[in-house]
Amino acid sequence: MTALDSHLADTLERLKGRHQRRSLIATRMLGAGKIERGGKTLIDFSSNDYLGLASHPLLAERSAEWAIRYGSGSGAARLVTGTSPEHLAIEERIARFKGTEAALLFPTGWQLNAAVLAALLKATPGILLFTDRLIHGSLHAGAADHRQIRFRHNDLDHLEQLLTRHAGGPKLIVTESVFSMDGGRADIGRLAALAKAHDAFLYLDEAHATGVLGPQGAGLSRDVPGEVDLVMGTFSKAMGCFGAYVAGSRLLIDYLVNACGGFLFSTAPPPAMLGAIDAALDLVPGMEVERATLAGHAMLLRERLNEAGIDTGDSSTQIVPVIVNEAEKALALSEALAAEGMLAAPIRPPTVPQGTSRLRIALRTTHSLADIEQLAHFLVGNSR
Ligand SMILES: *Cc1c(COP(=O)(O)O)cnc(C)c1O
Repeated sequence: MTALDSHLADTLERLKGRHQRRSLIATRMLGAGKIERGGKTLIDFSSNDYLGLASHPLLAERSAEWAIRYGSGSGAARLVTGTSPEHLAIEERIARFKGTEAALLFPTGWQLNAAVLAALLKATPGILLFTDRLIHGSLHAGAADHRQIRFRHNDLDHLEQLLTRHAGGPKLIVTESVFSMDGGRADIGRLAALAKAHDAFLYLDEAHATGVLGPQGAGLSRDVPGEVDLVMGTFSKAMGCFGAYVAGSRLLIDYLVNACGGFLFSTAPPPAMLGAIDAALDLVPGMEVERATLAGHAMLLRERLNEAGIDTGDSSTQIVPVIVNEAEKALALSEALAAEGMLAAPIRPPTVPQGTSRLRIALRTTHSLADIEQLAHFLVGNSR
């Protein structure tokens, strides 16, 4: 055991002492909103496969077809020999979907945020970085040790005050259109106007909006065409497969191709991933019925919970938090739900602020009304 190993062991011990040590649990997605875990079938209120596309045959078939036709690997980084005609065609499709001049693929959303935000901060010495208090961990990775001027969650009055107080110099605002632990939406129109008024670059993470919200499911940035400087999103949630995109001006994408380390020095996404994304882009724009079903599920659940006095925060999307405040309560509620055949993750600090522990309910088109009623009935009876 080296000195490093003993530090690793100490960290794990400390986590255990705080009841925060985690481990991996084998789980199988079964389709129809169900999963299998520990020999039991559970209704899945945890995963982000909002439109049920992760088990759609068209995605799996095209993924397999492209792997068989083009091979399992892409051979090299994009600037070497890794750019196939399919990469370019899909990036053009994404740009059209998002209503931007250009787009670029990355292996995952985490890797994209870590690499792209870092590349933007590096481009502009002295840039001031304004971030929502609840931004995703991948954005913190991209910000690294750059000083963040943090505004209260979705509080754009606060952002405006901070922008005014720090007048002068280049500015970058980073936020999300839908927050993964709250299910609330940012006011993109006002954000864009604020960014413009203060000459700031606006960076928007649409991980949970892509496929679900906005015209054709293209995200909330589609409501204000050309107003958001950079939009990113992932194919791993509602799009049902894997990979991520960044979309924006030709200038922005050209800069990233030349100066973003996480793009330059990483092997190009493989054909199987591209095939699934291509199929998802065929299906998602036309899934208006599914998007309406999902919105209806969420509205029904919030109505049932709110009329019983349960706090669902500012949720207005497919993500509905059941806020119970104490961490132990969230954990106990999640365990009690599992015993009743339903899976919902307890979310505790440090993922959310102290005193706001919750169950995070992620709804899906594949849930039945009976699934929602069963969940609501249990929560109303057990959340006090
Ligand atoms: C899931 C998520 C990501 C990361 O995307 P992956 O493709 O899963 O790596 C980035 N930002 C937010 C807000 C997310 O919820």
